[in-house]
Amino acid sequence: MDYRAGWCDRARFTVFDAHYGDGAAIRVLTDVWRTDPHRSPGLHVIARCDHLLPGFHRMPQAEPGLTVDLVNAPLDEALAQLTARIDLFRLHDIEHAGTDFARHVARLAAHDARLLVQGLTQDQVAALEAQGFVFDADGRHARFASRKPRPPQPPVPERRAIVLGAGVAGSAAAERLCARKWQVTIVDRQPAPAMEASGNRAGIFMPLLSKDDNVPTRLTRAAYLYALRHWEHLGGIGRAIEGDTCGVLQLARDADHADVQRAIAADHSLPPDFAQWLERPEAEALLGLPVSDGGWLFRGAGWARPGSVCEAMLAACGGRLERRFGVGDVRIEHDGDQWRLTDAHGDLVARAPTLILANGAGALDVPQAAALPLTALRGQVSHVPADMVPQLPVVLCREAYLTPASGGVCSAGATYDADPNPALSPQSHEENLQKLRGLLSDPHAAAGAPLEGRVGFRCVAPDRLPLVGRLPDFAAAGATERLRDVPRHPGLYGLLGYASRGLIWAGFAAELLAAQIEGEPLPLESSLVDALDPARFVLRARRAPRGPQAEN
Ligand SMILES: Cc1cc2nc3c(=O)[nH]c(=O)nc-3n(C[C@H](O)[C@H](O)[C@H](O)COP(=O)(O)OP(=O)(O)OC[C@H]3O[C@@H](n4cnc5c(N)ncnc54)[C@H](O)[C@@H]3O)c2cc1C
Repeated sequence: MDYRAGWCDRARFTVFDAHYGDGAAIRVLTDVWRTDPHRSPGLHVIARCDHLLPGFHRMPQAEPGLTVDLVNAPLDEALAQLTARIDLFRLHDIEHAGTDFARHVARLAAHDARLLVQGLTQDQVAALEAQGFVFDADGRHARFASRKPRPPQPPVPERRAIVLGAGVAGSAAAERLCARKWQVTIVDRQPAPAMEASGNRAGIFMPLLSKDDNVPTRLTRAAYLYALRHWEHLGGIGRAIEGDTCGVLQLARDADHADVQRAIAADHSLPPDFAQWLERPEAEALLGLPVSDGGWLFRGAGWARPGSVCEAMLAACGGRLERRFGVGDVRIEHDGDQWRLTDAHGDLVARAPTLILANGAGALDVPQAAALPLTALRGQVSHVPADMVPQLPVVLCREAYLTPASGGVCSAGATYDADPNPALSPQSHEENLQKLRGLLSDPHAAAGAPLEGRVGFRCVAPDRLPLVGRLPDFAAAGATERLRDVPRHPGLYGLLGYASRGLIWAGFAAELLAAQIEGEPLPLESSLVDALDPARFVLRARRAPRGPQAEN
């Protein structure tokens, strides 16, 4: 096929392939694009691939301009959940897919989109014709000739942004925007990145499982898998990033909980390199310790120092990033079409049309975010001398966690409370040690461990999911019923509410937000994108019954 006519005058050429197969067709396409002097600056390939875990998978590419999304979902569902404008559909090996897909193809088709088809049934051809596709005489090519106007693509804003906050959320936002050739000013009240919640010695990263593969499970899986690929792309854990993909063993809480986990293992037949259920003797053999019950082994999971993830991401920004650290608490105002950040003396810190709030629990004090139902949850982690606990080959967790030693210290934690005190508390320390003893089935473990550790404040939403997207204007919301109708602050976005999983949310949420801002195909199912939309709380506030029972 001659692609040149399709991509020569476009900023991005987007292809949907109904069947990834062994990837050969995609490789041929990307080779043609790579070697064509008239190619579009961007090539985005979305292909259905049943070798992966269910859902959408964005696969980071070394080549600038190339984006590859692999989707494991039935054709109808993949298309229905896709947010994209497709220039070329390759429809083959779909004889058994029925005809419903045709209306999704029409919804996603760009103006003058092309089809390249093979082996379609007569009904499928008729369904596509009914949606406005006109086939050539050879029956292998079709063109979208519908006169229905396509919804306009929002214009891409000027590529200049301020990111407020240099923890994992803000550092990832800067990296994902700079990768798209944005000029970014990252601003933090602290003199260096990762000095607040992202300042722990070790954070755990792992996925979540559930019997019904519910929304939080699907979201954390997407984020976790993206994080592993993204970190590899940044130089890798244990290399550019301090940490270890040593695996995480998550023990069942009790016998009933273990039964539920066995049922999940039986129902979902998960690949063992992702999640493997270990019965108690297997778990004991792995740890060399007695355990209360079996557990999940997440082999690709582990721990990382969040600050080193921030450093790797900020280093990847190169010369497009300006750093404004140590500026104290900034004041935010919208002035014309620009966001202005000023310091305590009224001096300008940064000015840009796009502002991303990635300031964690600090967002509670930002007037434009004040109506969001966020809370600051204090957490204390204990640093236990390595010789006071057994040497573990994996991170071990249940209600609490214990990391393998790094620099002679193991991290054990963490507590959850609403206390605003930033100082280390002996009670929180004792709580961590008690849980640690339960976890290790050893009432004397870490006896006399000195009061050492770290306190941080998590930013938490009532549903414990992050907020990713344009921030709603609560005051102007009126009687809005649909997310897309909620009025938003112009050019103001949030990457907030990462709760206890900031390490895995950061890269994925930043990639999603950057794709939203640029009007690119989104790396996530649309129903899951909606589950992260900060405006979900505008609708929930409206729907919630009045009275005390409405409180969470
Ligand atoms: C004890 C504890 C244990 C945890 N364990 C894990 C774990 O094992 N795994 C995991 O994934 N997550 C863990 N978390 C959660 C994780 O630390 C957070 O989700 C993550 O760090 C949040 O990153 P962030 O960038 O959103 O926030 P932060 O790291 O807090 O970054 C926000 C930044 O914004 C700046 N800022 C705020 N307000 C302003 C302002 N007005 N002006 C200028 N700058 C401002 C702050 O200085 C800060 O640097 C833990 C958290 C705690 C507290």
